[in-house]
Amino acid sequence: MSDRDWTGLLGFDGDPAQVDFDRIDAALESYYPQMERDLLALISYPSVQGEPDWRAPFGQDVRDALDFALGVAVTLGFRAEDVDGYVGLADLEGYSDEQVGVLCHLDVVPARAEDWTVCPPFEPCVKEGRIYGRGALDDKGPTIAALYGAAVLADFGVPLSKTVRFILGCNEESGMECVKYYLSKFDPPALGFTPDGRFPLVNGEKGICHFALSARWPAEDNGPRLLSLRAGSAANIVPARAEAVFSPDTELRFHGEEGITLSQRDGCLVVTAEGKAAHGSLPEQGRNALTELVRFLAGQSFAPEGAHAYLSRLAQLLADDKYGAGLGLAEDDGLSPLTCSPNLLEIDGDGATLTCDCRFPVRGKSDDLLAKLNALAAAEGWELSVPTLHQPLYMAPDTELARELLAAYREVSGDPHEPIVMGCGTYAKAFPNFLAFGAEAAESPGLAHQADEYFSSADLLLCAKVYARAIYRLAK
Ligand SMILES: [Zn+2]
Repeated sequence: MSDRDWTGLLGFDGDPAQVDFDRIDAALESYYPQMERDLLALISYPSVQGEPDWRAPFGQDVRDALDFALGVAVTLGFRAEDVDGYVGLADLEGYSDEQVGVLCHLDVVPARAEDWTVCPPFEPCVKEGRIYGRGALDDKGPTIAALYGAAVLADFGVPLSKTVRFILGCNEESGMECVKYYLSKFDPPALGFTPDGRFPLVNGEKGICHFALSARWPAEDNGPRLLSLRAGSAANIVPARAEAVFSPDTELRFHGEEGITLSQRDGCLVVTAEGKAAHGSLPEQGRNALTELVRFLAGQSFAPEGAHAYLSRLAQLLADDKYGAGLGLAEDDGLSPLTCSPNLLEIDGDGATLTCDCRFPVRGKSDDLLAKLNALAAAEGWELSVPTLHQPLYMAPDTELARELLAAYREVSGDPHEPIVMGCGTYAKAFPNFLAFGAEAAESPGLAHQADEYFSSADLLLCAKVYARAIYRLAK
């Protein structure tokens, strides 16, 4: 139990109207310079996953960022604890042990300094009301905002019946080992949120299935023929480039098809398709170079016969390269249509592997999807493998958690928009009863992981106010 004075609790029924949030907001405004200073300092740790070291399982830079964040938490009045460098804990004790969790992360994705135009990624700066730096938005800014928001509640002696637990993860971006470690030592909090998504609230995340289909055919070692084909760079990125290499003396018909170029390299004929990259969960934002190349080659004649037949069949199956219609996967639960983007293709002399990134509806079933994929593989004589399968998450907007979070956001922002469903997974999937809540606006093009990532000063303050209310509503 905490030694805080709980006398204020008498007669208090947890009605938000009884808490003077105007005063809490004013306090957060007066703390803003300190909040910004802490955020700039936290960003300056280049907390990209590195070589493991003693009590630094994700590298010393991540360890240093964790130590700094725990120091901030202690200064703000939290009881802080390091869990072997995997996660940090910062607790604000309520009068019961039941916990409300705030799941944040301190690690960041790498940044290439030459791509940054405002300031270097780990030498953050403030320009025209924006705080620039790697991690400013994902997830250091929202983390600092939430810590301040919770701390101010304690400052004002606002009674909380539940304990508020911040879980400061150190490996969200590359494997989520931090959360696995946490769950090996502790129970998950009863409910909570992760400030690592979008406002107003993410109440649904599609399921993710990366599947691969492999085909084989007899090799032909003589004569003009397709030697190799390579498309894509990662399973979750719509490919911007695809390339097929044919042996010398191969002849293809070329009529200036858009996005296609033919050239010579080392005596071989090279066919290149250029498209536009996009996140695998948003295939409609890209132009898929893989399918452009497959379509072009399907209209040609070349050897080996197996490769030609395969590419012709693929052109039919991938005629829709966004919603999986040709593959027989298309599905819509009214909230979140299935997307399916063919993102990797590798062909050599006697076989091919195609990898697709499929995001299935929040109310869909992975078993149904797998049954369709098995049937497809059997019908084509291909081999199926499923390297990634994450179940969807969905919480109806009228559940208590969703209602309270949305109310907290609306009270501060006045934004009446409904919660959203996303195609990409967030940290919220790590625990039951968690939702991603802020901090990027629903309509933002997506600044996380990009060069010149920033978090606006106004949003930092808005988040602190929203999270103060959200934590209060969940922990009251
Ligand atoms: Zn994140």
